[in-house]
Amino acid sequence: MTEVQATVAEIQQAVQKRRNFAIISHPDAGKTTLTEKLLLYGGAIQEAGAVRARRNQRHATSDWMELEKQRGISITSTVLLFEYDGFTINLLDTPGHQDFSEDTYRTLAAADNAVMLIDVAKGLEPQTRKLFEVCRLRRLPIFTFVNKLDRPGRPALELLDEIEQELGLTPCAMNWPIGMGDQFQGVYDRQGHQIHLFERGERGRKSVGETVINQGDPRVEQFLDSYLYHQLKDDLELLDGVAPAFDVLALHRGEMTPVFFGSAMTNFGVELFLRYFLEFAAPPGEHESTQGLIPPDCPEFSGFVFKLQANMDPKHRDRVAFIRVCSGKFIKDMTVQHPRTGKTIRLSRPQKLFAQERESLEVAYPGDVIGLNNPGMFAIGDTVSTGGKFRFPGIPSFSPELFAYLKNPNPSKSKSFQKGVTELSEEGAVQMLYSTDESRRDPIVAAVGQLQFEVVQFRLQSEYGAETILEPLPYNLARWVVGGWPALERVGRLFNTVVVKDGQERPVLLFKNTWNLHQVQEDHPDLELSPVSPLE
Ligand code: GDP
Repeated sequence: MTEVQATVAEIQQAVQKRRNFAIISHPDAGKTTLTEKLLLYGGAIQEAGAVRARRNQRHATSDWMELEKQRGISITSTVLLFEYDGFTINLLDTPGHQDFSEDTYRTLAAADNAVMLIDVAKGLEPQTRKLFEVCRLRRLPIFTFVNKLDRPGRPALELLDEIEQELGLTPCAMNWPIGMGDQFQGVYDRQGHQIHLFERGERGRKSVGETVINQGDPRVEQFLDSYLYHQLKDDLELLDGVAPAFDVLALHRGEMTPVFFGSAMTNFGVELFLRYFLEFAAPPGEHESTQGLIPPDCPEFSGFVFKLQANMDPKHRDRVAFIRVCSGKFIKDMTVQHPRTGKTIRLSRPQKLFAQERESLEVAYPGDVIGLNNPGMFAIGDTVSTGGKFRFPGIPSFSPELFAYLKNPNPSKSKSFQKGVTELSEEGAVQMLYSTDESRRDPIVAAVGQLQFEVVQFRLQSEYGAETILEPLPYNLARWVVGGWPALERVGRLFNTVVVKDGQERPVLLFKNTWNLHQVQEDHPDLELSPVSPLE
C-alpha cells in the first residue's frame, strides 16, 4: 500500500467513527443540562455541573468578555469533543442567550447534524424556529429531543403535529412517553421494542434508575399503571397505523426528524437518544467547492473558517480562527494554501477545544474543529487546503433584524473608529451596511440581536478607544437582491422599503416589517430577494 492509500484508509476509518452536531433550542429548554449529561457519558467530565462551572470559570478569565461577566451570560460558542462507544463526537456549542449573534448561525455552517431541543410544556419557541430556518437552508439532518417529561407538558401528539405543521418536517417518534409530569413512567422504544422505566428518585437526586423490560414481558402490567399502559397501547396502534416509518435517507435529506422524549435533568432517555443518534446521524460528508465536490477522504487536507474570536486571552490580545476540517488529515505545523490571499501559511499552534481549555492538538480529521491563532489573515468563510486552489462557497450573512447608524462623536478619533469598524466587520462580529446617499457616511450596524450592538460598542471603546453613539433605525428585516444592481434597476421605483448596500457594495433592501416585504414581493414578482447574502 502506498503512503497515500494508507492515509486515505486512515481518513475513511476516522470519518466512519466521527459525528458532529449542534444543539438548537430556545433559552431554558435545557441545552446546558443536556450537554452536561452527554459529556458525562463520554467521560469528558467527571461530574454534572462541570459545564456550568467552566462557563463561570471562563467569566473570571476573559477580557472583552467582561461584558459576559456583567451580564452573566455566555456570548461565545465553543466546541466540545467527547468519545462514546468508539465514536468521536464534536458538539458545536452555540451561545445560549436570547440576544444571540450571527455566531450561532455560523456554527450551524460547520455542523453535519442538528439536535432540536424542545421543552415539552412550551413546544416550538422563537429562537428554535429561527435556527431551524438556517438548518433548513443547509438541509441538515435534524434530531428532536423533547425535554422535561418529568414535568407536566403538552400532549406528545400535539407536539408532533406542531413540528409537522409549522416546520414542514415529518416527525417520526422513535420512542413514546408513558405519562408525563407526576405520572411519568418512562418511554417505549419503538425500534428496540422495549420499555424504559423511569424510576423516580428522591427529590433533588441528579439521576434516576432505568429498568428496561421487553415488549410482551408479563411484568409490564405490574410495573405500569393500567390506565397508562392502555393509553400507550392505543397511542402505539395509532402511530403504527398513520405515522410514516423511520427513513434514514429522509432524515439525511432534512425532510424527516426522529423524535425522542426524555428528561435531561434526571438523565432519563439521554443515553437511549445518544445511541440512536450515533446510529443514524450523518457522518462528515462531501463539500461543494469551486472545483466540484470534495469528499472527506480526499487525501488533501481542507477546511474553512467559520468563526473568529478575538482576545480570548487578555494577556495576548490574540485572535483564534475556528476551522472546520472538511477533508484529509490535519497534521500540526502543516503548510497550507490560502486561496483568498494566494499565500502559503503554516498552521502551527493548533488547539483542541474543550470549552475554554486549550490543549495542543497533533492531528484532526473531517468533522473536527481546530482553533488556530490567527495573526489577522483569516476571514469568515476562508478556505485553507494543502492541494489545489479550490474554495468552499463561504458562509452567507444572515438577515439582521436590528439596524442603527453608528456615529463617532469625536472627530479626533476618526481613524481609530474607522479601523475598529473595518476590523470588527471583517471579523464578522457584526454586519455593516452603508447608505446609498453619499453624504451619509456613518455606517449602519446591522445585528441579529441587541447584544451584538453592545458587544460592538464595548469593543470599539475598549480595543480601539473609540466612543460611539447609536441612532436606531426603524427597520426589522433585510433582504439581498438576487442579481444585484441590474436586477434592482429593472424593477424601477420601490415603495415601502429603503435601499442600502453591504460591505461588498451589493444592494440590500430594508423593511419595517414582513407586511411591507410581502407588499414589495407582490408588486414585483420578478424581483428575487434572499434572506442570506449571495455567496461568491
Ligand atoms: P438552557 O438555557 O437551554 O441551557 O437551559 P438549562 O440547561 O440551563 O436549563 C434551564 C432550566 O431547566 C434549569 O433550571 C434546569 O435545571 C431545568 N431543566 C433542564 N432539564 C430539565 C428536565 O429534564 N426536567 C426539569 N424538570 N427541569 C429541567
